[in-house]
Amino acid sequence: MEGLDPCQRVLVVIPHPDDGEIGCGGTAARLVQEGKEVVFLLMTNGDKGTEDVSLSREALARIRRGEQQEAARILGVKEVVFLDHGDGELETDRATLGELVYHIRRLKPDVVLTNDPFRRTFYIHRDHRHAGLLTIDAVFPYARDRLHFPEHLAQGLTTHKVAEVFFWGTEEPDVYVDVGETLELKVRALAAHRSQFPQVAEDEGRFGKWMREWAARNAEGHGMQYAESFRQYGIRRIPFKEEEKEQSEQ
Ligand SMILES: [Zn+2]
Repeated sequence: MEGLDPCQRVLVVIPHPDDGEIGCGGTAARLVQEGKEVVFLLMTNGDKGTEDVSLSREALARIRRGEQQEAARILGVKEVVFLDHGDGELETDRATLGELVYHIRRLKPDVVLTNDPFRRTFYIHRDHRHAGLLTIDAVFPYARDRLHFPEHLAQGLTTHKVAEVFFWGTEEPDVYVDVGETLELKVRALAAHRSQFPQVAEDEGRFGKWMREWAARNAEGHGMQYAESFRQYGIRRIPFKEEEKEQSEQ
């Protein structure tokens, strides 16, 4: 797992329940199996994602929280944090930035995964764009510098430097993670989001086949059967490769 091997703690910042499983479910499960700690942080509660007219926002949010907890349990995720913003209501304001900075300072992840907020050639949901932008801002410089959100330090937290950010849902992937061993966990975790994938109830086999085909397309030309792909967004670059290590030591 190029770029992800040296990390021990991983934070996944997720716009809506199910986006994490779609973007990095296989990678998250693999990281867990390798003994790393993975925490999911949900920015919104997904309370608009239904065509079922009998469901209120509150009822849908409750259902989706339960689905997300079940999906995270399947993947082996250590903790799920719910910031509980309304679906479609995620703002890049100071209060929301502070919430994310707080959890980064509390959890101290080496690596943060989120969706690419800079996608140019196809549609990106506003909450996804905002979640990505909030994440990179929270990582650098806000979580790092003690004079930003000093109230966190008064509460006993310390500043924190995240080493790397990786984006899923990107047009320019440069990191491919082999998820051959964990793809079935990803399919099961995604299927836990029943309110979003009614086709699972109709034909679970077809749902799994569709996921496998997608992962196989991601892997094409990269020497693996199934892959998830990411774009590494350099924050301060851990010297992962030997030649980089030598360069940084000079
Ligand atoms: Zn979403």
